[in-house]
Amino acid sequence: MSASVAKKLGALPTDGVCTTCGGTIGPDGRCPDCRAVYGESHRCPHCGTIADVERSEVLRFRCRVCGGPRVLVSDTTIERSGAERKSLTRARAAHAKSTAWTMGAGVLAGASVLSLLVSTAVLSVASPGLVPTLLVLLFAIAPAAVAFLAWARAKRARRETLDAVESAYAAVTRELVGQRDEEMTATELAKLLDIEEADAELLLAQVSVDTFVRARVADSPPSRARLEPADELALSDEEREHRAVLEAQLDEPAPAPKRTERS
Ligand SMILES: [Zn+2]
Ligand SMILES: [Zn+2]
Repeated sequence: MSASVAKKLGALPTDGVCTTCGGTIGPDGRCPDCRAVYGESHRCPHCGTIADVERSEVLRFRCRVCGGPRVLVSDTTIERSGAERKSLTRARAAHAKSTAWTMGAGVLAGASVLSLLVSTAVLSVASPGLVPTLLVLLFAIAPAAVAFLAWARAKRARRETLDAVESAYAAVTRELVGQRDEEMTATELAKLLDIEEADAELLLAQVSVDTFVRARVADSPPSRARLEPADELALSDEEREHRAVLEAQLDEPAPAPKRTERS
């Protein structure tokens, strides 16, 4: 990734020439020479500036200006509705929460280590007796417990972030697939969204499941569950045999009870 600085630029120049360096702007609205970006497809839904993105481990791509998560479609001729906006806003909020909790957990863990070191040093000199010693140690460890809770919160927020990013990508995929007559391959989708092919495959699978479910719900009237002769279906061979034996026994007259003979 080149370390170029984000540039806030306006509309796509009609001659296709980069106003920054004079290079030729690519079909993705980006100048390959200086990485300046042009056109509405590069407008950030969070901060509203036309700015480039950079890769992020959790968010995949984030705005170079505000750091908000973004989904980039490399073909700028494809019309976009911004269906992913809601999920992106959710991802941004969850990511901010995750970052805050992670930092909090780090600070508290550090505080705990420090207070434990100080307490042990003091206790080794003062030896105040068992109960005060335990109390001092308890207070020293307390921040570690809170740090653990903060860390758990951070983890949950991170999961929320990943979920929201995925649903943003799913929304975009749904839109891209819906605009095409022929089937979209994972390779094409991966190229359009600049993601791994395996991820593109998962997105396509998710979208086709969603579409299938929606189509089923919309098309078919609620079908009644057909009741099979359940007893026959559910029984295994062994159970059926056992039942046959029981039925045969019921048909037979019950054997007369044996009498105990007395002398
Ligand atoms: Zn340029
Ligand atoms: Zn932004």
